[in-house]
Amino acid sequence: MTASRGYAAQVAKAPLAPFTFDRRTPGPRDVQIEIAFCGVCHSDLHQVRDEWGGAIFPMVPGHEIVGTVVAVGSEVQKFSVGDPAGVGCLVESCRTCPSCQEGLEQYCTTGSTFTYNGRDSDGKPTYGGYANDIVVNEDFALTIPASLDLAGVAPLLCAGITTYSPLRHWKVGAGQKVGVVGLGGLGHMALKFAKAFGAHVVQFTTSTSKIEDAKRLGADEVVLSSDPAAMKAHAGTFDFILDTVSAPHDIQGFLGMLKRDGTMTLVGVPDAPPTVHPFPLIVGRRSLAGSLIGGIAETQEMLDFCGTHSITSDVEVIAMSTINEAYERMLKGDVKYRFVIDLATLDA
Ligand code: NAP
Ligand code: ZN
Ligand code: ZN
Repeated sequence: MTASRGYAAQVAKAPLAPFTFDRRTPGPRDVQIEIAFCGVCHSDLHQVRDEWGGAIFPMVPGHEIVGTVVAVGSEVQKFSVGDPAGVGCLVESCRTCPSCQEGLEQYCTTGSTFTYNGRDSDGKPTYGGYANDIVVNEDFALTIPASLDLAGVAPLLCAGITTYSPLRHWKVGAGQKVGVVGLGGLGHMALKFAKAFGAHVVQFTTSTSKIEDAKRLGADEVVLSSDPAAMKAHAGTFDFILDTVSAPHDIQGFLGMLKRDGTMTLVGVPDAPPTVHPFPLIVGRRSLAGSLIGGIAETQEMLDFCGTHSITSDVEVIAMSTINEAYERMLKGDVKYRFVIDLATLDA
């Protein structure tokens, strides 16, 4: 056992506060990573408040983890002490089911082990990256391109892969018109990736204050989703729409914006289900789909793509002690575009 220090919620909706806990002693295939930065995902907030049900407390959130390897087990091959490394939403899976065999560990049929709010094979709860360190099997640790700013890399481990994966799966590229709904942590990465893949990108936002930013981030067009005329002008024109919104909202209107055979994929997980009439799906043979993060191999592919194309997240680095205020700001959409905790401030 190694003693770790972090921030935890003791019960649902409780503010996060300092917490000491044990991590396993690194085994032969494990690496121990001293965490430098951890991104703040809206999923952290949903889970700390138990909005999806079944949450495990005390909870140390955080699944956008980057840092430096400080110890390696005797059989570790991919990392040496001193290497930068990352950990995303997954720390283990069954490794044998069809999904795991295809590198889609997030869809493991027996259930992959999530970085926090999950249980290890020994039944013990997992604790995330709002902490000084993490111990993880090297197969679930990612290599970080040396050229990238480490704080800006952290959000790639969830917001990055969660948007990269569906854009790749639905083959978004040049000659296509793509919509991104919501300009938050996930949305701004979706915008960057869809542009990098060559699509014509339309950003939908509810925030007038984000219109200029969306253009700066690469949007070809920006639409205020509260403007019915602007929305109507895009009816029947999109090949693909990615919805990253964290709160209940109308998705019916977006379905009518798809071309025949177009797909709208949901990655946002509001705490109440949407209402969808079958007609917009039926009349255009349109699809409504979902997508969960991404597998380890694709996460590495995404990080390498970001290294080649100099893509990072736009971050506001915060001190650990300000996490509860950061959650309130995130709820108001007041973050441009991802909070990242500097773990050097953990004991301040
Ligand atoms: P975020 O940074 O808070 O961004 C969410 C954005 O949604 C906001 O910036 C806002 O954009 C828009 N929004 C918020 N409330 C809205 C409302 N009532 N109506 C319309 N738009 C609204 O959150 P995030 O970290 O990107 O996460 C987004 C969602 O994805 C969360 O539900 C999270 O749990 C989920 N998620 C899913 C996966 C997955 O694997 N599927 C992975 C990670 C996260 P505008 O200001 O531009 O309108
Ligand atoms: Zn996340
Ligand atoms: Zn599996």
